[in-house]
Amino acid sequence: MMKIYNTLSRKKEELVPLEEGKIKMYVCGPTVYDFIHIGNARPMIVFDTVRRYMERKGYEVNFVSNFTDVDDKIIKKALEEGVDASVISQRYIEECKKDMAALNVKPATTHPKATEEIGGMLDMIGDLMEKGYAYAAADGTVYYRTRRFQEYGKLSHKNLDDLQGGNRSLLVTGQDQKEDALDFVLWKPKKEGEPYWESPWCQGRPGWHIECSVMSRKYLGEEIDIHAGGEDLVFPHHENEIAQSEAANGKPFAKYWMHNAFLNINNRKMSKSQGNFFTVRDIGEKYDLQVLRFFMLSAHYRSPLNFSAELMEAAANGYGRIVTSVGNLDYLLENAGDLPMDEREKCLVQEAEGFGDKFDQAMEDDFNTADAIAAIFELVKFANSHTDANSSREFLQKMKGEIMELCGVCGLIVEKQQEMPQGDIEALIAERQAARKAKNFQRADEIREELLGRGIILEDTREGVKWKRA
Ligand code: AMP
Ligand code: ZN
Repeated sequence: MMKIYNTLSRKKEELVPLEEGKIKMYVCGPTVYDFIHIGNARPMIVFDTVRRYMERKGYEVNFVSNFTDVDDKIIKKALEEGVDASVISQRYIEECKKDMAALNVKPATTHPKATEEIGGMLDMIGDLMEKGYAYAAADGTVYYRTRRFQEYGKLSHKNLDDLQGGNRSLLVTGQDQKEDALDFVLWKPKKEGEPYWESPWCQGRPGWHIECSVMSRKYLGEEIDIHAGGEDLVFPHHENEIAQSEAANGKPFAKYWMHNAFLNINNRKMSKSQGNFFTVRDIGEKYDLQVLRFFMLSAHYRSPLNFSAELMEAAANGYGRIVTSVGNLDYLLENAGDLPMDEREKCLVQEAEGFGDKFDQAMEDDFNTADAIAAIFELVKFANSHTDANSSREFLQKMKGEIMELCGVCGLIVEKQQEMPQGDIEALIAERQAARKAKNFQRADEIREELLGRGIILEDTREGVKWKRA
């Protein structure tokens, strides 16, 4: 029985999907104005592992994660560089995808972008207005009428009146024409030099919260199983998403809400604005990024995790032990005789599968990856002490297979990958060019991602497509 801690109920609950065998999951993605830092990488790694475990259990997971590509920070950077905002967002979407591939985070089923979903946002805002949940102020700003949504505060367990007290200073200041301090923006008027879209209320752009309600509904449906993100998103982002979606759809939005704790540095949240961050790129220069993935999973996702050089060294050692063990098995396999397993080996395989059960038990308990990794270590130790030059090929393969499978669920690459031969790369590039010519952009993108997953970066230049190894 898979148990998930649900922020909504503050309890661990049994996972019962809306539709048998299927999981609809939405994870709030990054705002793309710069390289992602390793705090942003925590939810990516954690929820990718959740997805992989569910797939191991036979669920078909429809996994959606957005890119927020219209935002003050993107606009600011675009103004600084004197380019269009889309140049900035497109650049950092590409960079983010490279980091994800290097961290072995699987691409989502769909990665929608806010700027491509404006029509849906206008529809939902219009609908909310019709239902009395939203209003336009004189300057064209559209606000959500928070108090109208009776259950507001149910996710963050906040009381409306406490919020009101805390936010009194926000009430009607200058241009702000809110009816109530708690009301939040759905649509706002453009400022000089900013990207904007036409709307019935004013030329402007959407507020941040509306994009996730709209993209979740479009790609997963009105009701979904899991909505996830970092714990800073509980309030106000996710609370506001619930208010929007449930008022618009008249149905519960997400059944389970999952939130990862922060990645800290010197016990303070790592963040761009505080300047106390390392990008995934920075870390990739010093360590194999699989070590970073291992480090992230060595703690439970709801526990704060403090980043330090010492802990990264420990992670490098731990990860190294698994890689060495798999390397040894490969070496033994090269020289092993083709004998089938004997009775003793068959018993050992059964014992080894017990570590797989232990791994599963840990994961079933709200994805306790720390204990799951401990089970992998036990398995590695077991494999090391029961294999040698006399082992049968079949036995060695089973041992390696078991380790590889559990590591695969954690998304850990523990086998030194064969480099993709140049001929194969060039064949795929040619296929991609043909797909683009035929306007089959989906296939072209798939090939790009596939190559990225094998560490091959494509660059479209005026002289044609160039590639390099990451
Ligand atoms: P942002 O680009 O700031 O919207 O963040 C993208 C995702 O990263 C969100 O799910 C955030 O909650 C998460 N996040 C940002 N900083 C951290 C951190 N220091 N630790 C864990 N998660 C974080
Ligand atoms: Zn979101």
